[in-house]
Amino acid sequence: MDPWIVASLGLTLVTVVVAAIAIRNGRELTRALATVRRLRAAEARHDEAIAQGGAEQAGLLQAVNAGVLRIDPGLRVLAANAAAHALLGRAEGTLPGRSVMEAFLDTGVESMAQVALTQGTARTELRRADADGPTLTVMGRRAPGGGLWLVVEDVSELRRLQRIRTEFIDNLSHELRTPLTTVSLLAETLSREADAIDVGLPPKMRDRIGKIEVETGHLVQMVNELLDLSRIESGGTLHPVDGLDMARLAAQSAERLRLFADRQGVTLRVETSDDVPAVHGDGVRLGQVVVNLVHNAVKFSPDGGEIVVRVRHEGDEVVTSVQDHGVGVPRDAHDRVFERFYKVDRARLRAEAGGGTGLGLAIARHVVEQHGGRIWVESDEGTGSTFSFALPAAGDVKR
Ligand code: ADP
Repeated sequence: MDPWIVASLGLTLVTVVVAAIAIRNGRELTRALATVRRLRAAEARHDEAIAQGGAEQAGLLQAVNAGVLRIDPGLRVLAANAAAHALLGRAEGTLPGRSVMEAFLDTGVESMAQVALTQGTARTELRRADADGPTLTVMGRRAPGGGLWLVVEDVSELRRLQRIRTEFIDNLSHELRTPLTTVSLLAETLSREADAIDVGLPPKMRDRIGKIEVETGHLVQMVNELLDLSRIESGGTLHPVDGLDMARLAAQSAERLRLFADRQGVTLRVETSDDVPAVHGDGVRLGQVVVNLVHNAVKFSPDGGEIVVRVRHEGDEVVTSVQDHGVGVPRDAHDRVFERFYKVDRARLRAEAGGGTGLGLAIARHVVEQHGGRIWVESDEGTGSTFSFALPAAGDVKR
């Protein structure tokens, strides 16, 4: 074949191949460009969604009634919603940049924020310093991205209603106490006089007088305990001292019930050790807690039962416990027994001899919590109960 023809055919082939490659590459390029365009569009949509989400979040934060503040790890306000400004009495936009101390003007909130940073969550309550300022609760929660969220709520109305309730119970109990005490004393006298008359008084009448005496006794006890509870709840009655010896206090308080225990055929043992540190507390109120727990233990123990009162040092706490082998408390009532007026039905049947108002453990819980402690019960029905309370240890006992 003519070399020119061969050369021209070769050239045509190369051109066709190059053209084919160019067309393929061109398609790939187009495809690649389309992919880039798609990715860009997706990215733009994503950015828009984030911006929208951020706007939604910001809108939500502005819409809620609670004050919300974002705090950095150095305890400075990064952002705060409108409610936070209003609740703290600040002009809109003036909180960011301030320290927590400057924002709240309260050392308690600053300490709470430190605790929330290390422990995850914490809560405190404060009264705004200005006249008629609201009562606020502040809840701190560690933020996943570092720093904290603080949520501020106005609880003035709630506290006002609680105060009214407490005052109402206080006044009512006061009004009831005098006439009830008189009726109770009269019933007691009547019962004594009935006993002194050997003839002529029908047994039914004697029985009824006895019942009046017992029931009015219960009423007087209930009114006294209601008064106690409302005073403890209103928080003004603690007289704490340093260096309180819980071991000695528990032994003395248990001793006050020895006669009652003997009468019920129950033995009472106190076990304490010498290394128990002191607590900071009100001896009268804490003694009342021990008396309440031992009184219950005796009331709910069978004849011949044994009660052990223990005081021990555990970690940084002083734990006082009262163990009995009585009817026990069912599991679903473990928390409820500390509510006011709550009684476990079956246990109540056993308690007929001693009566009961259902207020003793509610008082005990309030007293213990006011001391920064906690109270709980471990029990299985039928095998007895151990009621314990733990108080923060506070150094050496003053003996
Ligand atoms: P109460 O005056 O009825 O004893 P408390 O508040 O002291 O009131 O106790 C509430 C309820 O808890 C009791 O009525 C009883 O049902 C239950 N309870 C308390 N202590 C004991 C105990 N040691 N063993 C069994 N049940 C108990």
